[in-house]
Amino acid sequence: MNSNKSTTRILPNNPKDLQSIDLSSGVTFLGQGALEISVFPRLSQEIVSDSNFKASLVHWELSTWFEERLGGIPLQYMHLRLAVDLPLVCQACLQPFMESIDSDRDYILFDTEEEAEAWDFDEENQDAEDALVASETFNLMDAIEDELLLSLPLVAKHGPGACRPEDLEKVAKKLKKGSEEIIIQKPNPFAILEKLKKQ
Ligand SMILES: [Zn+2]
Repeated sequence: MNSNKSTTRILPNNPKDLQSIDLSSGVTFLGQGALEISVFPRLSQEIVSDSNFKASLVHWELSTWFEERLGGIPLQYMHLRLAVDLPLVCQACLQPFMESIDSDRDYILFDTEEEAEAWDFDEENQDAEDALVASETFNLMDAIEDELLLSLPLVAKHGPGACRPEDLEKVAKKLKKGSEEIIIQKPNPFAILEKLKKQ
């Protein structure tokens, strides 16, 4: 335990430093910055590569603090705010579009996996803070990426009425063509019969 309980450590905007933060040191943390999407490999896989649509920087803001508990050791909290614009493919018209993600979340940091899981499964805590484990080597980069992946829409889509009608038509034609091809590819029973006759 660090003796400087009242000190606040400022986090640098540097992926390497953010990969290992000592959250069990007893100090509080404060930081903000903007990181390239390429330092988040799992998130990079979810976006479309199109020269006209580029992901913005991932903006992050973090603060931690302690709250006294009656008859217990203080609980450690973490606030994480994230904002990014990501190019995704609209599932209706198959064209790329920009999705804005803005996530604002509070977490409670527990010492052990067991405590964190017990908090997550307690129904009384639904809609409240999520639980994380406050290790000596807490990986904020993973936490940011997990949160952004969870914030992606289940089905990526333009807003209502925002798909271009000509793109929707193209998709409809493509689907129709696809089904015709399947029919043509089916073996013709009469052709098989002709083949048998010739043998
Ligand atoms: Zn669309």
